[in-house]
Amino acid sequence: MPRRAASSRVVVVGAGVSGLTTAVRLAESGLRPRILAQDRPAATSSAAAGAIWDPTYARHSRRDLWATRTYEVFAALAAAGLPGIRMVAAFEASRRPIPPPPYASHLPHYRECDREALPDGFVSGYRYRAPIIDMVPYLRTLSDRVVAAGGELQFGIRLRSLQEAFADADVVVNCSGFGARDLVPDPDVVPVRGQLVAVRNPGLNEFVAERTDVPGELTYLLPHGELLLLGGSAQTGDADLRPAADIAAAIVERCSRIYPAIAGSEILGHRVGIRPTRPEVRLAQVNLGGGRHLLHNYGHGGSGVSLSWGCADDVTASVLDILGT
Ligand SMILES: Cc1cc2nc3c(=O)[nH]c(=O)nc-3n(C[C@H](O)[C@H](O)[C@H](O)COP(=O)(O)OP(=O)(O)OC[C@H]3O[C@@H](n4cnc5c(N)ncnc54)[C@H](O)[C@@H]3O)c2cc1C
Repeated sequence: MPRRAASSRVVVVGAGVSGLTTAVRLAESGLRPRILAQDRPAATSSAAAGAIWDPTYARHSRRDLWATRTYEVFAALAAAGLPGIRMVAAFEASRRPIPPPPYASHLPHYRECDREALPDGFVSGYRYRAPIIDMVPYLRTLSDRVVAAGGELQFGIRLRSLQEAFADADVVVNCSGFGARDLVPDPDVVPVRGQLVAVRNPGLNEFVAERTDVPGELTYLLPHGELLLLGGSAQTGDADLRPAADIAAAIVERCSRIYPAIAGSEILGHRVGIRPTRPEVRLAQVNLGGGRHLLHNYGHGGSGVSLSWGCADDVTASVLDILGT
């Protein structure tokens, strides 16, 4: 790597899945990124995610490329036994005839279910295999990887503008999620609040989801060993991180209709996060002059985990290009 690139000062704003994944790629490319973030990884919206690979809830012309790349990386990490990542059998069904998303038929082990094999009341469904990510240990592993590759993490720093991040940097990568709304500022970023209920798992091993065409009506069960995460909710314009008892009760009720065994399961906790939703993911670079470059990587809505490695690869390629490597 040329000296200029290795000695360039690169700051990543944000320690959610977007910031950490980008920092891993930058650090493992020979740079020494410094992450500046208000919240530690475990306190981000990324930590609240379920998370199943599903690119449906983000828009961009490169979305499917990013999603495919991320699927491949997750599958490789699962095969290598990385904590927090597994490949699971997945089953999605609907009470009305809704076509599967276009990418579904390309997924490993994809097959449509016979009507007789569906639960009562369901008319269509399909099975596939997908990565499922237990976000808290996964984010910890990403942080460790950043540090092992020579990067640095600093938390508790609330930036009032991206200019502040340039105080000690030539290149700034903005991975601030919903924070981008004020930080950029970008009024196109809107909060879509999501809530999950964690219960003791009575024995479910596959990801199960009820598909509907009603926005905000999400019902799914994500198994993480002893823990089963029940979802979900989507309140547009709401950024309140306190769990709401009525939403939690409705989630448990809807999930119990699909998987009655959880009706009496012990509730272990609640998770709330903000999906940083935007008409389109913003992956862009801005030359600010004077050798300073700003790159954006935010606005992934409800699919940020599923796009994380693809986006990080694109951002890293741009940074290396800027630095002339
Ligand atoms: C309930 C729920 C379930 C979800 N399920 C899935 C799923 O199954 N699959 C999937 O792919 N996606 C899922 N998502 C979406 C996914 O979680 C998000 O798209 C993703 O976490 C966004 O990550 P991020 O790193 O961009 O933002 P965040 O995780 O929000 O991180 C932003 C970071 O920027 C920092 N920051 C912000 N503003 C500032 C500032 N001014 N100064 C300094 N630092 C700042 C924050 O402190 C934080 O460290 C889910 C989301 C929720 C809420």
